[in-house]
Amino acid sequence: MRIVLMGAPGSGKGTQAQSLVSRYGIPHVSTGDILRREQAQGTPLGLRAKQIMEAGGYVDDATMIAMIRNRLTQADAANGFVLDGFPRTIPQAEALSKLLAEIGAPLDVVLLFEVNTEQLVKRLSGRRVCELCKKVFNVHTSPPTVPPECVAGRTEHQVVQRADDAEETVRARLRKYEEATRKPVSGFYSYTGLIRTVDAEGAIDVVTQRMFDTLAAGSGGAQPEAPAKKRAPQRRATKPKAKAKTRARARKVAPKPAAKRAKKSPSKRRVVARKPKRAVVRKARPKRARRGK
Ligand code: AMP
Repeated sequence: MRIVLMGAPGSGKGTQAQSLVSRYGIPHVSTGDILRREQAQGTPLGLRAKQIMEAGGYVDDATMIAMIRNRLTQADAANGFVLDGFPRTIPQAEALSKLLAEIGAPLDVVLLFEVNTEQLVKRLSGRRVCELCKKVFNVHTSPPTVPPECVAGRTEHQVVQRADDAEETVRARLRKYEEATRKPVSGFYSYTGLIRTVDAEGAIDVVTQRMFDTLAAGSGGAQPEAPAKKRAPQRRATKPKAKAKTRARARKVAPKPAAKRAKKSPSKRRVVARKPKRAVVRKARPKRARRGK
């Protein structure tokens, strides 16, 4: 299975990706995770990405496309993948289609996770991560557990908020997602017929069930380009057909009423009357010329 997960930050794509990984035995490819690893290793890309990520912006398309090309051509992705966080722009979506066409491995489905914006703000700005055991909590829905289970010898978690989970950054990320990703990229995949929407509000296992129901309900289908090619001629064909019908109808129906109108219409009468006048003038000119000589 080759699956793209689309959804706002905090919509639970990463969590649901784990269920897909278990069921299909395919790798979870998260561009956010790759960038965070680069940051942790202090690579030039990581350092550049850090500032962009903290401001809620997007890393440039060329960098992201090269990253995905490199990752999806690795051996473990040969039988499929769950792509999370990519594509985020139309150039990325187009590059992915091109890459998959090159390797003869079309996408099966794009799952679009939908969650109300205020719910997302609450989920993300309430998120806390324990620096020691890396467990993720939410101050609203799942605060650090009591009795705490942290690393050996510790009775308390050491929770921190990720820089890009600060409320202002969260709102900026959500705006960016809506404008730069959800509208254009979901439009791109709707056109190809690959997209399936999943209501991602509610408990994790409820959403997981909805996701698998959605996958079972629709086969996903073909490579992005294929349905587009099929549809395009149909659309193009309808207009000429309609025009041809209109013209044919006009040809069949028009003569009688047109003839009737010609007799009654004052404008038609004027046209008929002008012709003989012009003919008379043209004949008269040579006569005058001859007299002049
Ligand atoms: P995520 O963990 O998917 O929410 O990604 C965290 C951040 O990484 C995003 O807010 C972006 O700054 C950056 N990022 C991840 N994937 C992409 C992408 N496909 N294009 C551009 N920036 C990305």
